[in-house]
Amino acid sequence: MIKPLLQDDALLADVDAAKADRPNFRLWWLGQSGFLVQFNSRLALLDPYLSDSLTVKYAQTDKPHIRMTERVIAPERLGIVDVVSSTHNHTDHFDPDTLKPLFAAKPTLPMILPEANRGAGAFRIGLSLKAPNLHGVRAGDVKAAGGFTFNGIPAAHNDLEVDASGNHKFLGYILQFGPWRVYHAGDTKLYEGMEDWIRPFRVDVALLPINGDKPERKVAGNLDGREAAQLAKAIGAKLAIPMHYDMFTFNTASPDEFVAECARLGQKCRVLQAGERWSSAELALG
Ligand SMILES: [Zn+2]
Repeated sequence: MIKPLLQDDALLADVDAAKADRPNFRLWWLGQSGFLVQFNSRLALLDPYLSDSLTVKYAQTDKPHIRMTERVIAPERLGIVDVVSSTHNHTDHFDPDTLKPLFAAKPTLPMILPEANRGAGAFRIGLSLKAPNLHGVRAGDVKAAGGFTFNGIPAAHNDLEVDASGNHKFLGYILQFGPWRVYHAGDTKLYEGMEDWIRPFRVDVALLPINGDKPERKVAGNLDGREAAQLAKAIGAKLAIPMHYDMFTFNTASPDEFVAECARLGQKCRVLQAGERWSSAELALG
């Protein structure tokens, strides 16, 4: 089992200590597609999966979800965050066993999620559909919550699926805060017109899945390492960080291919360990 670089008390101490570092922002990888983003003493929590719910659910099936990395932090200790987001309703991105203790710790916490998932999502975490803290987002929407502005970007997992009202079921978000722009892709493959959605934001950091397409495992696909590097280059991201690997043994990838393709393209990238802090101060170092 991979041990996070910072875990539990050490992670919380690092988050607290980093607050003073302005005007930079920081992020910590929480495993899979989970990140904490901190700017100006505000914290956003993206796609947290901080439980063993999938390991339990699939224990006696042909798709066992064997954890590869220890949990970085218990969700009930993250009542300090100002907003939480979910890109789609798959459990590694919308986990009741993470979200229920999180909302118990902070019942008023704003949550950003696809409008298409708001009804089912509210039910799964025991909230009312009318809960004022649930903010449904559609592609192209702009929603501010907790000191961050979220822009809805379509995601194709595997396809650009919409509900009966035409709302996208899979999203990525571009977070805007101060002068910064961070693209959290969610789960997605490449689709036509994707770059046109993202490039105008001139993102500083792109967080991109690299576990690829695994139809034989009966799971929806994602960018592979090479495609993630190419997307980062195409949208002009100043830095690309890989995600969505090292969580489950049946659906992971090495970041080597991503790193090699970034090098070939002249795309800056950074591979984080679970629980590791990255600071935007690194962008200035060239
Ligand atoms: Zn996923």
